[in-house]
Amino acid sequence: MKLVYVLGDGQLGHMLRQAGEPLGVTVHLIALNSDLRIFSVNNSVITTEIECWPNTVLTQKLSKSISFVNRDIFPVLTDRLRQKKLLNDLNLATAPWQPLSCKTQWPQIFSTLDRHVIVKCRNGGYNGHGQWNLCPDNIEIVPKNMYGQCIVEKRINFSNELSLIGARGRNGDTAFYPLTYNFHQNGVLRASVVLLNHNTQQNIAEHMLSMIMHELDYIGVMTMECFMSSEGLLINELSARVHNSGHWTQDAASISQFELHLRAILNLPLPTPITYMPAVMLNLIGINSRMSWLSEPRLHLHWYNKTVCHGRKVGHINLVDLSPVILSQILNSLLPTFPVEYTDYIIWAQNTLSQKQIYI
Ligand code: ATP
Ligand code: MG
Repeated sequence: MKLVYVLGDGQLGHMLRQAGEPLGVTVHLIALNSDLRIFSVNNSVITTEIECWPNTVLTQKLSKSISFVNRDIFPVLTDRLRQKKLLNDLNLATAPWQPLSCKTQWPQIFSTLDRHVIVKCRNGGYNGHGQWNLCPDNIEIVPKNMYGQCIVEKRINFSNELSLIGARGRNGDTAFYPLTYNFHQNGVLRASVVLLNHNTQQNIAEHMLSMIMHELDYIGVMTMECFMSSEGLLINELSARVHNSGHWTQDAASISQFELHLRAILNLPLPTPITYMPAVMLNLIGINSRMSWLSEPRLHLHWYNKTVCHGRKVGHINLVDLSPVILSQILNSLLPTFPVEYTDYIIWAQNTLSQKQIYI
């Protein structure tokens, strides 16, 4: 089996490495400050756990190698403007948007898009960084040097945020997980829920992501984040990698998103993973883990061994059970062990489990 090299050594890379072990696949993580001379990347497969990387001798050498999977696709998907154009060219619905090049555009933007818009950096944003919520009263919050570097889009009044995680193999085969419900606060994913009942948007979403992956001749796992709005499913953004909203697959599916990615890039069989049970994923952000959590047998702790600091994703927990009612009860019992801000995420997860907030 070929060696797999992963650009980046964060938690996604570690989880890729863990997923490779049972398959006998050796996955080496390449930190951005590594000396490339110590790796022999010839005859290997190179992938990435990060979408944007600094331009260094190391990243140039890796990302220009013919072994780097999807190497020509990253420049398209990591630029929000090019990504939106691609989606629009494929006639796939997105939030109405336009490039933002100068201040004089604002009257036209507010009359064409909406009075509530979001400005997003074309490159390098994540977890809501590089984004500004705008209305006619606060256009000054966009730094001057951002004009020409951003797009602006309508703020969508969505009923749910959903993501579809899928993979495409080297022979064009595709496989998908069920749509995942996601809860973000301040641009950061806090919790995800997956249910077993068929979502009426599933086939539509799979069709959309298939079109994108086939058009790009993409290989590996790709994530499509969507808004469910009164106009149907709108694509928010694409990630050309495994994704936080797919972490539940580690404990509730027959093949995790990490294994699915390895299978796709290594040209191994790519059957549709079976989702065994409903699941809730809670991100652990800036908080310590509690070993008392482990007394709950349906709880799976994934701790990233990072230093805990404010706002940093340091782990996640997956709760898995056939019964959404039991999952909701477990959330109740966990509530006192979390900081107060988790109450909102837990209530959202409980409502989603009971289908209270679900747009069907
Ligand atoms: P990620 O961490 O997923 O990479 P990001 O920083 O790239 O996030 P987005 O996914 O574009 O940013 O936005 C983060 C969150 O902000 C979304 O999940 C959503 O909750 C909210 N958001 C973004 N764009 C819009 C929009 N047009 N209308 C309403 N809410 C939005
Ligand atoms: Mg996002």
